[in-house]
Amino acid sequence: MSPLAGSTDHARRTLPIAAGSVVRAHVGVLLREHRRALAVVLAWHLVAAVAGLAGPWVIGQVVGLVTTGRAAVTDVDVLVVLLGAAVLAETGATWVARRGSFVLSEQVFARLREDFVGSAVRLPLSTVERAGTGDLLARTTNDVDAISYVIRFGVPTVVVSVTTVGVTVVAAVLVSPLAALPLLLTPLVWFLPTRRYLRLAGPGYLWEHATYARLNGVAAETVEGAATVDALGLRATRGERFADAVRESHDAERYTTGLRLRWFPWLEVGFFAPIAGALLWGGYLSWHGVVPVASATAVVLYVQRLLDPLGELVGLLDEIQFAATSMSRILGVGEVPPDRVATGAEPADDHLVAEGVRYAYRPGHDVLHGVSLDLRPGERLAVVGPSGAGKSTLGRLVAGVDGPRTGRITVGGVPLVDLELDTLRGQVALVTQEHHVFVGTLADNLRLPRPDAGPGQLESALAAVDALDWAQRLPEGLETVVGSGGHELTEAQAQQVALARLVLADPHTLVLDEATSLLDPRAARHLERSLAAVLTGRTVVAIAHRLHTAHDADRVAVVDDGRVRELGSHDELIAADGDYAALWRSWRDEG
Ligand code: ADP
Repeated sequence: MSPLAGSTDHARRTLPIAAGSVVRAHVGVLLREHRRALAVVLAWHLVAAVAGLAGPWVIGQVVGLVTTGRAAVTDVDVLVVLLGAAVLAETGATWVARRGSFVLSEQVFARLREDFVGSAVRLPLSTVERAGTGDLLARTTNDVDAISYVIRFGVPTVVVSVTTVGVTVVAAVLVSPLAALPLLLTPLVWFLPTRRYLRLAGPGYLWEHATYARLNGVAAETVEGAATVDALGLRATRGERFADAVRESHDAERYTTGLRLRWFPWLEVGFFAPIAGALLWGGYLSWHGVVPVASATAVVLYVQRLLDPLGELVGLLDEIQFAATSMSRILGVGEVPPDRVATGAEPADDHLVAEGVRYAYRPGHDVLHGVSLDLRPGERLAVVGPSGAGKSTLGRLVAGVDGPRTGRITVGGVPLVDLELDTLRGQVALVTQEHHVFVGTLADNLRLPRPDAGPGQLESALAAVDALDWAQRLPEGLETVVGSGGHELTEAQAQQVALARLVLADPHTLVLDEATSLLDPRAARHLERSLAAVLTGRTVVAIAHRLHTAHDADRVAVVDDGRVRELGSHDELIAADGDYAALWRSWRDEG
């Protein structure tokens, strides 16, 4: 199977992947930002590498003295002292250089991670939903890990190895260009197989990464929806999908392993050919008196010294290739275009209006066909209709989560998608069942929508949702660390925290999707009071999947097949004797 088979279909739904040129440019920026630290580290490695050259040179001299029979004990003593000094210098310089490299790579990695978190949290919600959490999850875990390894251990090793190889080759050539000729064997042997490997490995690794993302996605979805999977008897199908994903990952790994297996033997030959060559060729040259024995010996030792750093470089080449694909996936997250561009316009009032709104999840398949709604500030509008009619979609658009395909939804005359996200959240909020408690103090959790809120405001928000009592009884009050690893909040408390956040955000309009609403049916009764407190004084669009909640609303909108069929108060709609009246009667009779 080709590494890219099937990936075009996949790519449409997944997050973008940055081009190689973008990755190179970004690495360039990172290097430039840290160029001073990098220069210092390089200088120390250079000192270490030059000090390391003394060993082979000294041994060469000793061999030369011994073979020519001119060795005096004092000469050898001096050479040995020189050798000792060089080893000490090398060790010291290496220590300083390595330490510098590690500090530098931690800084670079921290920077990269911050950038990534920054672009991940800026992702439009609709993009994350479309791509599925698996892809984002794989990028935050597998890809960040791959990069972290290369930056933490790879970059320092590359710096050391490249300087050592460069300095050693120069030294060998300086000692005797003729005896150093076998060094050319390495590039000669490596060139073609390595070029082929690098050409195929990039796409191969991208494929491998994509399969991990799919595997993560299937696993996460299955675990998250375990109850549904069980209830609908989907175990076998989910199992098969999982097996498929595992199989594809296996194929991808096999493919890239195959590539490596064909490449490695050539690497080995490239390692050892110059050593054997230098030995034979150096022996031949010195035998014929073309090159002194001391020089030939030094060159052989230099060539042999290349073995370790070259081996490390080659080993890393693979890791780097792998990390480069990870990097393109991580940078790709930053390439998602924003789904809104704030124009800076400020709403004139709290009046929310939808005009001729159409929306499609997939091009060519509109699920809303020209919906218009004029919300009266402070009213409570219930949206009812059969399942799949488009109620939740309408709710998301009215809350500004997505923009309409055509038509507009404005607040105080400004389209919702023209508002800064922060401003939007102060206008209208979608109340869903997601009520995350983040690791941090309770106060931090509450301040999310309003970072500048003072202690008094936090307390009155908690009081408004009837949560001040328990909050003050926490071990350290509002400064208690909650969330995973901290003080565990109960489900009901977590929901109250979410409601208190709403109070702080203080939007004038709330969209309440009953299907995904905050209120867990098992939750305590007083939560309903907390919710009622939040709703008072605000415009509420309640997506009512059950009819009795519609009865209490000021107006009811009946949505069917992506259109508003009827709109009016409960009494008006009953009097009009249309769809709503029929639904109401059948519901009442059943009840
Ligand atoms: P309701 O809330 O009235 O049950 P929805 O707004 O959830 O209806 O759905 C309206 C239509 O849009 C349905 O046909 C549904 O299948 C489709 N739909 C909803 N969500 C998505 C989605 N994320 N991707 C594609 N189609 C969707």
